[in-house]
Amino acid sequence: MNRVQETDPVVRLNFFYQSRKVCPKCSGSIKENRVTEDCRRDGDAYGQHYYYCNACNWFTKFEWDEASSPYYFEIPELQTKARQQIEASQSSSTGN
Ligand SMILES: [Zn+2]
Repeated sequence: MNRVQETDPVVRLNFFYQSRKVCPKCSGSIKENRVTEDCRRDGDAYGQHYYYCNACNWFTKFEWDEASSPYYFEIPELQTKARQQIEASQSSSTGN
């Protein structure tokens, strides 16, 4: 079975801020794998942090970079996307 990557920014953010131990789809236990992609000349490494569920094949990943602040540099962008998604669903539900 192929793994299914989570694309919903709200689900990913909720997962990020919780324990990162429980699958948001099936409540199965999460395995993680921190991958170092490369190391720059100044010694700062970067890569991905994978979280995956063996029960339902759900997974997500967060890019990390030792030279970046925040360390998980995707998070501010995810927060913006999540906010936009919530606002969009609110405005469509009040449109009757
Ligand atoms: Zn699962």
